[in-house]
Amino acid sequence: MKRSYDMVILGGGPGGYTAALYAARAGLSVAVLEKLSAGGQMALTSQIDNYPGFPEGIDGFELGMRMQEQAQRFGAVTEYAEITGVDLRADPKVIHTSEGDYFGKTAVIALGAGARKLGLGNEDRFTGRGVGYCAHCDGMFFKDKTVALVGGGNSAAAEALYLSRIAKKVILIHRRDTLRATKIYHEPLMKLPNIEFRWNSAVTELVGDDRLTGVRVQDLVTGGEELLGVDGLFVSIGRKPATEFLAGQVELDNGYIAADESTRTNIPGVYAVGDIRTKALRQIITAAADGAVAAHYAEEYLAEQ
Ligand SMILES: Cc1cc2nc3c(=O)[nH]c(=O)nc-3n(C[C@H](O)[C@H](O)[C@H](O)COP(=O)(O)OP(=O)(O)OC[C@H]3O[C@@H](n4cnc5c(N)ncnc54)[C@H](O)[C@@H]3O)c2cc1C
Repeated sequence: MKRSYDMVILGGGPGGYTAALYAARAGLSVAVLEKLSAGGQMALTSQIDNYPGFPEGIDGFELGMRMQEQAQRFGAVTEYAEITGVDLRADPKVIHTSEGDYFGKTAVIALGAGARKLGLGNEDRFTGRGVGYCAHCDGMFFKDKTVALVGGGNSAAAEALYLSRIAKKVILIHRRDTLRATKIYHEPLMKLPNIEFRWNSAVTELVGDDRLTGVRVQDLVTGGEELLGVDGLFVSIGRKPATEFLAGQVELDNGYIAADESTRTNIPGVYAVGDIRTKALRQIITAAADGAVAAHYAEEYLAEQ
């Protein structure tokens, strides 16, 4: 089995597959290493309205499949494997995976980000048993039920609006006394009859046997605690870049890979694209743009070798 490529791409989200498309079209041999399925985070949402070219919007999973097919049309291959470690200073660069090692003259890191967790002891046990991290993915399981949602940013506000159309009641729990989300969300949320707010509050305990049945909430001002009976809890407190095994390999900044618009990292021939790198706006279009730029610089790098 061939395992050496001009470019190995770590992660098959929009950043990864755009890099694959551009590099494969430029004649490079390209492998995308992906642990789940094409599309990355966007596959978690059924309606994407801000990626140009789709006036009616598009299902995120379908967009992911289309990006994969487009890159494959020009010869990029996808290998389904979980990346467990890297040696980016080696020549060629080595990517360790559950399916063995892959070798790349260049590497594009497009591992994206995952949900940030509350950090409570039994959180993993309840994940999928009442606790979720994507209202747009799992909200339908809570039709006409009572759910709590932790967070106060744009994603949390959008998810609260979404859940309010499905659930009987949504209890929004936020550490501050006002939402961090942009103003456009405030009024619609405040007007909804089935949203209840718990300001200055934090979830301190998840309660239940097989499934979550309640959450203990602490008032951060008074210190008082209250047990809320809920059928589900959505956690929407931001995303965490997937850089665990990259520390010590590539320069990080606040957990993100330090790279500017050129996508170049501190290691020659290694590029960081999409949500995993330091940037202002983490979206599909900016991840895709990064992918194109990374392929351009990788081509230039290979030509100079
Ligand atoms: C619910 C939701 C809705 C969203 N809606 C929109 C929207 O409407 N419009 C918009 O522009 N943006 C939206 N976003 C944000 C957008 O999806 C991201 O900005 C974008 O997907 C980032 O792309 P990426 O290529 O950097 O990484 P990701 O999409 O995160 O892809 C990373 C890939 O790497 C893989 N991976 C990670 N670790 C490993 C490993 N160890 N081994 C192998 N593979 C690995 C993952 O499985 C994943 O497929 C949404 C995000 C979410 C979560």
